[in-house]
Amino acid sequence: MIVLKTKTELEKMRVAGRISAQALALGGQMVAPGVTTAQIDKAIHRFILSQQATPSFLGYGGFPASACISVNDTVIHGIPGSRTIKQGDIVSIDVGACYQGYNADNAATFPAGEIASEIKALLDATRESLYAGIKAAIVGNRVGDISHAVQSLIEPKGYGIVRKFVGHGVGRQMHESPEVPNFGKPGSGPRLAAGMTLAIEPMINLGTGEVKVLSDGWTVLTGDGKFSAHFEHTVAITESGPVILTEA
Ligand code: MG
Repeated sequence: MIVLKTKTELEKMRVAGRISAQALALGGQMVAPGVTTAQIDKAIHRFILSQQATPSFLGYGGFPASACISVNDTVIHGIPGSRTIKQGDIVSIDVGACYQGYNADNAATFPAGEIASEIKALLDATRESLYAGIKAAIVGNRVGDISHAVQSLIEPKGYGIVRKFVGHGVGRQMHESPEVPNFGKPGSGPRLAAGMTLAIEPMINLGTGEVKVLSDGWTVLTGDGKFSAHFEHTVAITESGPVILTEA
């Protein structure tokens, strides 16, 4: 069942979104050679708590940290730890905050110093595909229109779309209906209505879209060892168009 949010609920989600966006920006500013992923997680954790919110990811399904921090060929769900970021790495940070019972979810991939031009192009295309998806998130369209907008921007560039993991509804629960794949046919899937809140999140690989999950049960790597990028916003569908809730 797709839960439509009231105006009051959307206001709470906007606060959750602002906190999530600020937490993401804080983490992104820390991405630099010599910093560990655990240091970034700790700063994000403290920040969210300082905002009278709680980290949505901490303990979710047993996840042991407040942010997923995924370096290079890690696509998503990287567990923060002693890994030290190196010059030329890319670091995907995915973080959500829960405020008065409502969640928001966002992610971005940050470069550590100078990165190879082909990797920068991957980051740019992934971010661009997120905004193409958001642009299609309008009343009367269907979920497949969002999916198709992402897919049609990415595939001509030759990148691999991760199909095993998808975007999702978000609200009282971190993951709600509907699923929002990053591939699909226009005009397919549930119809978009005002009050829906969706986490749109293209996960795009430099190589193929194949992924594998490590034995820790969380860490998702690209199958071919090539780099991967991830950008995500929580978006409200409204009569006057899509509203990005995860903005600082
Ligand atoms: Mg998400």
